Amino acid sequence: MAKQELIPVEQARALLLDTVNTLETEKVPLIEALGRISAKNQTSDIDISPFDHSAMDGFAVVASDLANATPETPIELPVIDEIPAGAYYDKVLQPGTCVRIMTGAPIPDGANAVVKYEIVTNLENDGRASGRVAFSTPASAGDNIRQKGEEIAAGEVAIKAGEPLSPAGAGLLASCGLSQVEVYRRPRVAVIPIGSELVEPDALPLPGQIRDGNSYAIGASVVRAGGIPHLHSIVPDDKDMLAAAVLEAVEESDFVVTSGGASNGDFDYIQQVVKEQGELFMDFVNMRPGKAQTFGLVKNTPVFGLSGNPAAAYCGFEMLVRPALRKMQGYATFDRPRVWARLSRDMKKKDSRRIYLRSTLERLDDGSLQVRPAKSQSSGLFSPFQSGNCLAILPEGVPASKKVEAGTLVECLLLDVDEGVVI
Ligand code: AMP
Ligand code: MG
Repeated sequence: MAKQELIPVEQARALLLDTVNTLETEKVPLIEALGRISAKNQTSDIDISPFDHSAMDGFAVVASDLANATPETPIELPVIDEIPAGAYYDKVLQPGTCVRIMTGAPIPDGANAVVKYEIVTNLENDGRASGRVAFSTPASAGDNIRQKGEEIAAGEVAIKAGEPLSPAGAGLLASCGLSQVEVYRRPRVAVIPIGSELVEPDALPLPGQIRDGNSYAIGASVVRAGGIPHLHSIVPDDKDMLAAAVLEAVEESDFVVTSGGASNGDFDYIQQVVKEQGELFMDFVNMRPGKAQTFGLVKNTPVFGLSGNPAAAYCGFEMLVRPALRKMQGYATFDRPRVWARLSRDMKKKDSRRIYLRSTLERLDDGSLQVRPAKSQSSGLFSPFQSGNCLAILPEGVPASKKVEAGTLVECLLLDVDEGVVI
């Protein structure tokens, strides 16, 4: 067998990002747009807020009326009306009078300050309309008034093209008069499990069989990456059947992910199928777990062949497929946050490839970060990902069998924090 050429993870990732295209846009209701990328600048049709309004429950006054107010010489004013939120006072407030006003109600013309209830003394009629109140401190123009256009002016951009929508952004767009927003479409991702040994999760495996776990780990990872998974039925290790499944999937999907049969074994066919039915760009990557990573285009649809080993498939998805699915949805950030942490125990570098140790990051009592690699680093396991939260990196170039001592600082990729988050 010819020596496999391993390309660096970064080169593999760049190849995927260069190959996949951002999808079309669609208009969706605001809540469905949460976390998705705005495809356009979104502007407001009105000033927000549309009018100056009270920030407090209190009394709207002409500030100069209260210039000489002190506790010893309070200023008394008649309360000539009441303005609840939603109402509008259509007269001009005259000096020497005040109106009772609720939070959110428009400031009447003529008034230029609001004095909150708590510091006003009710003299007559409990401070309501046609009563009297006393003020014992001066007020300044603008006190407790929220200005018209404080959030945004009519015609201004509220959310820029390329920005992810947060819950606050949904509220902002609703205020701008938008109940729907244009975002990039979610990719439909076909997930194809390959292997003659595989059975469905609800079957009891016969001798030699195992349950298909990968489709569920990959399908759930697709959801977490913002895509819509479509789980294909199990395809045995048969080249023609695999070719038929891939050809069908590329018609219906924006991206196809397979697991299993990605290496050079006697019954491994995904590389050949991609080569024969389309164009093969990549077959092996310098990482462990997950060396066998097939990528190419079939009928212009990206097809990615992950290894069958669960940890290798998971790692390959995380490092290579997830960034591609993000690009398709218009995201501009592809790197999980990284931190440096001290290894909790000695590790042996088993391979000269870059090694992603399935690990748990924790903060010690002294505030420092420690990373605890899972006891077993077998590429056949899901559990270290389920119980862990990061991948600690032992770089390529460091020779195999070198001991990496406890306490060594290693870089860790945080798998439970989204790309672009500042930590
Ligand atoms: P392969 O990449 O086909 O050589 O498979 C590598 C290992 O992963 C084998 O032990 C397979 O039985 C196992 N495997 C393959 N597909 C799956 C799957 N869908 N779920 C769980 N394990 C799998
Ligand atoms: Mg196999």
